[in-house]
Amino acid sequence: MEWCVSMPKVELHAHLNGSVRNSTLLELARVLGERGIIVFSEVENVIMKDDRTLHEVFKLFDLIHILTTDHSTVTRITTEVIEDFASENVVYLELRTTPKRNDSIGMSKRSYMEAVMEGLKAVSSVDVDYAPTGLKTNTFNGTTRKKIYVRFLLSIDRRESTEAAMETVKLALEMRDLGVIGIDLSGNPIVGNWATFLPALKYAREQGLYLTLHCGEVPNQEEIKAMIDFLPQRIGHACCFEEENWKKLKSLKIPVEICLTSNIRTETISSIDIHHFVDLYKAKHPLILCTDDSGVFSTCLSGEYCLASSAFGLGKTEMFQLAENAIDFIFADDGVKEDLRATFEVAAEKLD
Ligand code: 5GP
Repeated sequence: MEWCVSMPKVELHAHLNGSVRNSTLLELARVLGERGIIVFSEVENVIMKDDRTLHEVFKLFDLIHILTTDHSTVTRITTEVIEDFASENVVYLELRTTPKRNDSIGMSKRSYMEAVMEGLKAVSSVDVDYAPTGLKTNTFNGTTRKKIYVRFLLSIDRRESTEAAMETVKLALEMRDLGVIGIDLSGNPIVGNWATFLPALKYAREQGLYLTLHCGEVPNQEEIKAMIDFLPQRIGHACCFEEENWKKLKSLKIPVEICLTSNIRTETISSIDIHHFVDLYKAKHPLILCTDDSGVFSTCLSGEYCLASSAFGLGKTEMFQLAENAIDFIFADDGVKEDLRATFEVAAEKLD
């Protein structure tokens, strides 16, 4: 594990509210419990439960959102999540989150994202580069400190309407200078229709935003086909593909964000031995190991590499290569890619 921690890594599929520390969730729950808004012991049991089906995970997210969705807490969790990834040598992080509106506390999608940005600016344990080249900010004196690149993807929740999805895309466009580079489609895969989100996704593409879609978490082959035909720059999961869609995905070489622990914990894949990582890896299909929800699934990116190593027999060289290859699939510009390659080169000399 130590070696996996020390290796530089690239995280491309991490949901902000899924990456919150359990200790923070429990602390927030205790406060709401004292105020009589929730019953702490019940919430504690839900938070600490180990195995959950995909369906139960979405119920947990509704609970997490009750605990976290006010401006100051959103700011706090953003800082903590970025610092946690940096502490295990993630050198580039694409953090995704669903901008939320909650009129009762005066929260708009924009003010939610402003709270996220506040959290990013409050990171102090590591230098953060969060804006496009030329706008580097939040760096401290000296070059010996650790540095992490952070970029944001705004998620459209499958419960949302076409209008709400469009609002998220417009917000992403307005926040481009602050490091928002793309759009994700996520949320409960049995909710909503592809056609509902398509206008907003098309608009995002026309405006030059990058796209990644949660695809194939449930065996809806028609939707999977429509998503692949749409040619997103990446997809997440790809668990329930049938032969035709595999062929299509492979021929188009669309990179897949693989979340091993998440897939096993949610029983989307019944056992690690039959995970599609193996087939894609052997076929040299572009893939990236990611955490999905490090808090909810009690994992970290180093842990995902360790798991791939023990389950599929990857050695240090293969793991390092896999981590470095991820640079090809990031949504940031070539300058960032070059800098990351240099970081890996230096690390390659140091690591044995
Ligand atoms: P947030 O966007 O609130 O920061 O992060 C949590 C949200 O991300 C969840 O409410 C859900 O919409 C989405 N999410 C997290 N994990 C998964 C996953 O494994 N599959 C899908 N489809 N959505 C997820």
